[in-house]
Amino acid sequence: MFVLNPHNGERIAELALADETVVLSAIAAARGAYAAWSATPAVKRGEILFKACALIEARGGDLSRIVAEEAGKPLKDAHGETAAAIQCGRFFAGEGQRLFGRTTPSNTANKYAMTVRQSCGVAALITPANTPAPNFAWKVFPALICGNAVVLKPAEDTPVSADWMARVLIEAGVPAAALNVVQGLGQELGPLLTTHDDVDVVSFTGSTRVGRAIGAAAGAKLKKLSLELGGKNAFVVCDDADLDKAAHWAALSAFSNAGQRCAAGSRFIVLDAIYDAFVDKFIAAARRQKLGVDDDCDLGPVINERQLNTLLAAIAQAQTAGARVLTGGARAHGALAQGYYLEPTILEGAAEHAALSLTELFGPIAALYRARDYAHALRLANSSPYGLTACIHTRSIDRAWNFAQAIDTGVAVINGGTFGSEPHMPFGGRKASGNGTREPGPEALDVYSELKDIYLWIDPP
Ligand code: NAD
Repeated sequence: MFVLNPHNGERIAELALADETVVLSAIAAARGAYAAWSATPAVKRGEILFKACALIEARGGDLSRIVAEEAGKPLKDAHGETAAAIQCGRFFAGEGQRLFGRTTPSNTANKYAMTVRQSCGVAALITPANTPAPNFAWKVFPALICGNAVVLKPAEDTPVSADWMARVLIEAGVPAAALNVVQGLGQELGPLLTTHDDVDVVSFTGSTRVGRAIGAAAGAKLKKLSLELGGKNAFVVCDDADLDKAAHWAALSAFSNAGQRCAAGSRFIVLDAIYDAFVDKFIAAARRQKLGVDDDCDLGPVINERQLNTLLAAIAQAQTAGARVLTGGARAHGALAQGYYLEPTILEGAAEHAALSLTELFGPIAALYRARDYAHALRLANSSPYGLTACIHTRSIDRAWNFAQAIDTGVAVINGGTFGSEPHMPFGGRKASGNGTREPGPEALDVYSELKDIYLWIDPP
């Protein structure tokens, strides 16, 4: 299979697709390496991971160039992602000096109670293509620091960066058999990888559709499971908002990374009193977006031609159902015609329960909704099968705080964008956005380690 540069459709690598034999040998290698890696002191594992971060930093330009090519992004965006991956890696390397358990009093004299963290075993990790370097770091570093051996299946559209990063970690001292990368198609390798008896924990980031299938299969095997899934995130603009700032953040939320973020803004809920004024500014911001992969560009292409066609079909379907395209709506032409570019698109007039309102699209597409007042806006924002992130623009601390409390999501942002999570903070969603786990942050340690209660009885001297 060829790996294509989404910017121009050119071949950048050829991928030897793994089959079941390769997956089985990767799981066996991980199982074999597990005992020694988990017995390595966590502080020492952290030192190895710190060294890996230093190597990634020293050669960061190479990783950024790979990401820019395989994911189709401006190099400056890829540099930002390399930096984010390193920051995440350092956070988890430092956790090797903590990995806290808990000590508590006991209700019995001369009895002591505590918890310790232990590794799970073999971790099967599956990642999407949208931000390949941070996606690798968010899963591989916490899995390794907790002492697990890893089998990673990165997205088939962005395999090169995962290969590069794994080699650097191994060069830094992670045993090669404790970090296996299998390259191949998710629908072919996923079922075996996520249900094999020698896999102890499964962590998947990707679409809700695939997450449900993995959840059903891995659940039948009672696997420990973390599902970080899709979003259809609401961006609420109140009548007391700074409209220029709101339009700036709205454009970033909807269009940056070509809308390919689980945390992208896709439902823009605007109070009636300022609806027209905000929409004018939002459309102007959308039209100012520069497409391409030069460093002055705002967004690149979507990941592949199939995804571009899915987006175009969703826009056509929304129009048939009564929505109107206010700007964009078509494949970019001219110099970008060879790439998988969609013009930044804004629609209005979709019904609350239309497919456009309920379905994650994962592209630079924004839908507008008019709300009578704040209460109506909050109800619309919560009217979604998903519950990942949301943001509100308002100058009222009362509305802001009420929104942060009442919105049914894992992340709430006030006067910013719907995206922008930090590696030391727990990220994850409610409803169809996940199964309740949180990664990264120290909470990721709960995914990749098992707690054991230890009780100690003392005979008084
Ligand atoms: P996808 O679900 O199609 O693929 C994601 C990964 O799963 C890929 O590696 C793919 O090969 C693999 N896969 C596909 N079918 C599989 C199967 N049957 N079993 C096991 N693995 C399988 O998703 P995508 O379109 O590549 O990525 C976009 C999705 O990821 C969006 O829904 C987005 O919201 C989500 N995402 C979520 C987060 C988060 O943290 N919640 C972060 C980034 C992306």
